[in-house]
Amino acid sequence: MQSDPDSYQDSSKDTQAQRKMTNPKTVTAKRSRMSLCISNFGRRSFLGRAGVVTAVATSVATAMMSPVRSSTKRGDIAYAQNTGERNGGSQILQEVLSANQTYVKNFGDKSNLPLPPGRRFAILTCMDARLDPAKYAGLSEGDAHVIRNAGGRASDDAIRSLVISYKLLGTKEWFVIHHTNCGMEFFTDQVIRKLLSNSLTTAVLDENGFRDVGQRPGSTEGEFINWLTINDQVTSVAIDVRRIRFHPLVPRDIPIYGYLYDVKTGELIEIPEATEIGRAA
Ligand code: ZN
Repeated sequence: MQSDPDSYQDSSKDTQAQRKMTNPKTVTAKRSRMSLCISNFGRRSFLGRAGVVTAVATSVATAMMSPVRSSTKRGDIAYAQNTGERNGGSQILQEVLSANQTYVKNFGDKSNLPLPPGRRFAILTCMDARLDPAKYAGLSEGDAHVIRNAGGRASDDAIRSLVISYKLLGTKEWFVIHHTNCGMEFFTDQVIRKLLSNSLTTAVLDENGFRDVGQRPGSTEGEFINWLTINDQVTSVAIDVRRIRFHPLVPRDIPIYGYLYDVKTGELIEIPEATEIGRAA
């Protein structure tokens, strides 16, 4: 492990606050582990000595890797279980916490994973429950960033995550992956705005489309959201790759691949037009 104590002499407010809240031994342990994390990734070439970047990395890595957090995490699980019982014992809550306990038992050496994604790529994809990027793209913990939203659209917030992904955490290649039979094809801004203005209760979908069955009132706040619905999947992949490709915060040397996931077969189908737009310069 490369040791470079100078990198930690920056005294950002975050770092100072963390020092005050933790005892010196804990801070030393955190720093030691974070140093391992960053040096594994090539800290000198990647983070340099810029104080701000180092401070951000310190905060993030400390929060992610500190042994204090581990003990707090165990406490949080116990609290959540109690809360579940007090809330009438939601079955889903109990199932999730039970599954997590099994996961923790088999966690193994994943506690040593570095913060930056080891395979240095990112996927922007839809939140659809049928899509499992870890499975369809062969990911293990620590491999890649996966950014998900409704439709896998290149929203401002998705781009925010992608910029962080390369600028601070070193990803070099990106995928935009939409999918067949996406729910974002089944309504328009006008439809969801009207539904929400009627009622906040979940709408039903029948042969005539979505309709409200819940109680009023609704809210007109939906008028102020661009819902980024999809008219045509192939076009939407190309539009999103184009937006990311020409975004002023995105460097031209990151290739952006455009794909459509087929929910009937699990296959990733290339959208050549999108990949052409996303070609690295
Ligand atoms: Zn979708």
